[in-house]
Amino acid sequence: MAECLFCAIVAGEIPATTVLETDRVLVFRDINPQAPTHVLVIPKQHYPDVAALAAADSGLLAEVITAAHRVAETEGVSQTGYRLVFNTGAQAGQTVPHVHGHLLGGRPLTWPPG
Ligand code: AMP
Ligand code: ZN
Repeated sequence: MAECLFCAIVAGEIPATTVLETDRVLVFRDINPQAPTHVLVIPKQHYPDVAALAAADSGLLAEVITAAHRVAETEGVSQTGYRLVFNTGAQAGQTVPHVHGHLLGGRPLTWPPG
């Protein structure tokens, strides 16, 4: 999709620090990390949010979540615990309209979130 920040990262037009890449999924470090581990897990194909991805290709959504867990393992947070968050819509704070899971870990995470 033209003018999409994360499509531009997938295309290599904007640099990012990749931590895992598969045929259909990319995981890269968040530019403004909120925890010792804070990466973004995205399908390379553009979908605006997780609901659109689930409706169009639930198998790809499963690949996104599997990739998140693989990175949790390589980052060393799978045993201590981690949070996988899909901000969806304005009130949840979604600022980039290309579905992305935030994988957060490496410190105690409070609940409820802000
Ligand atoms: P959200 O607010 O849920 O849409 O999350 C968007 C996330 O993208 C934020 O955590 C930003 O810090 C992150 N972000 C924005 N631009 C970049 C970039 N160029 N590279 C990596 N992460 C980014
Ligand atoms: Zn996109």
